[in-house]
Amino acid sequence: MTFKTKSAVLAAVLSLVGSQCVAQSGAQKIPGVPTIPVDATIDQAKQAVAVARAGRKLTPKSWPNGARVAVCLSFDVDNEYMANKQPLPVPMSGGEYGATTGLVRILDLLDRQQIPASFYIPAVSSALHPDMIGQILKSKRHEVGVHGWIHEYLPTIGDAAKEEQLLNQAIEYLTQATGKRPVGYRAPSWAFSPNTLGQLIRAGFLYDSSMMAMDEPYEIDSDGKPTGLIELPVTWILDDYPYFGETLDGSLPSPESVYEVYKAEFDGAYQEKTIFILTMHPHISGHRSRIVQLDRLITYMKSKPGVWFATEEAVANYVKNSSTTAELGTGTGSAFESLKK
Ligand SMILES: [Zn+2]
Repeated sequence: MTFKTKSAVLAAVLSLVGSQCVAQSGAQKIPGVPTIPVDATIDQAKQAVAVARAGRKLTPKSWPNGARVAVCLSFDVDNEYMANKQPLPVPMSGGEYGATTGLVRILDLLDRQQIPASFYIPAVSSALHPDMIGQILKSKRHEVGVHGWIHEYLPTIGDAAKEEQLLNQAIEYLTQATGKRPVGYRAPSWAFSPNTLGQLIRAGFLYDSSMMAMDEPYEIDSDGKPTGLIELPVTWILDDYPYFGETLDGSLPSPESVYEVYKAEFDGAYQEKTIFILTMHPHISGHRSRIVQLDRLITYMKSKPGVWFATEEAVANYVKNSSTTAELGTGTGSAFESLKK
């Protein structure tokens, strides 16, 4: 049975029993995504969460050159299309800031600090600012990954074929723009539909960086079987948007406070010898008061011995090629084979 079919069956089963629950709770129902009713059986609950689960841990015994920790700085270059479905001039200008100012500052900082980063770019954001990819690739240190066609919210597309078409368009666009097929994927808004995982595997991605089941690299399992797809997990704690997203209520924290959170997360990763992945946006973290804190954080991390700054692509390749993980997703009857179809 294909991934698509299984998802459809599950959606049909659970939507019948789930619709009443949604109506009672007032929660918004997303087409094609089943809800779990209060009287669900344990088997139903297991089935409902089985689409994408944490498989085995993939942190290698050691990082390159004996480093204690891998550090990935990642930037989602959303610009205009992260904020608003209606292209009103003022919010669009706030997104445009990412291209005119934020990205330039970030690239200058990374050059000065001589470290790599990963940039996930919606194809349309790139088309609106065609100079960005050349600017990012100029130093030859950074990676460009897929971040949707137009920053579409996948759970509400409700059409697997359309979703896959947008994915393939985005891959094609970035392949042409960068001269290299991207190997990394980050879902817009970190949101998968039930179809997304299968589509990523069919498209041949090396890794995804949208999920949150651990704070170290792991293999994604689907329906209890390994898929071969490496997850480099994210978390809202290490994302600038929840702290600095648009607000007029005076709740914006000081950049120094956010620095302290990032630093504590890094210290924990350093202690655990795993990985630290920070997600930022040029139109958010590129502002003056915030980028000085990013500079400070990088300087702090560089002051510690054994820190490997790398793109997520480099980390995924290292994880894949390390001896303990050579058999990623190749087991007989693994979900990897069925998801490819
Ligand atoms: Zn985004």
